[in-house]
Amino acid sequence: MPVSVAIPSLGSKFQDYRDPIPGDSYNWGPTINANNIIYFTFHHSVTKQTAKVDGNWKKECDTIANLHINQGWGGVGYRFIICSDGTVAYVGDLSHGGSAVLNKNDIMFSACFVGDFTKELPTAIQVHSSHLLAKHFITNMPQYPKLDSWDDIKGHKNFMATACPGSNWDTGGDTLRDRIVNDRWDGYPDPKPAISTPTPPPPPPTPSEDYKAKYTALLSEFETYKKTSDKEISDKAKKIIELQGKIEKATIALS
Ligand SMILES: [Zn+2]
Repeated sequence: MPVSVAIPSLGSKFQDYRDPIPGDSYNWGPTINANNIIYFTFHHSVTKQTAKVDGNWKKECDTIANLHINQGWGGVGYRFIICSDGTVAYVGDLSHGGSAVLNKNDIMFSACFVGDFTKELPTAIQVHSSHLLAKHFITNMPQYPKLDSWDDIKGHKNFMATACPGSNWDTGGDTLRDRIVNDRWDGYPDPKPAISTPTPPPPPPTPSEDYKAKYTALLSEFETYKKTSDKEISDKAKKIIELQGKIEKATIALS
């Protein structure tokens, strides 16, 4: 029975490519018993990273599948291919183990990065995509009950003498394994993941001023002031006239 996989965290970067990829994607390798799956294992392809430039992730997948078919395999050996543009292609059905780690394809699922990590680094977006892929398997796939911890994340060379997946898998300070686990891709080559930064909330709408009310109020204040002012001026004039009259009378009385 084919196993459908949905990884919403990857959005459009997750692609079901089981049908179009060359070879048999559904029946190659050992039949999987879900209870026996204990590892999720990473590889590198030692093929060219071209999708990071031209976006053609299908070509990167086809190249790997054709290499496998040409060496006599029934189909692509991996379950997933992590292309250099960050696309995670579902290429080998999870009902079967394919061929990835000798004699261990019934206890693990394998995902392969496109690139040669003895000579170059994964792209930043490949690291981010691989983190989301591994995280999905250990946190959102209860049908594989023993695949439930970051400790279950392995590299090909953890099982046998091989350069795969590159010189810096899990020994030395800043390792690829550590970057996958912690979703750290800073300083790695473009393209970078389009992490959506939270957009700041729009400023609260300024209360729209009622200009007509303001105009009416100003007009009324103006009229009131004018009246008051007129009254004060006339009061003052009356007072002056009154005082002048009194002074006049006093002057007459003095003379
Ligand atoms: Zn490998």
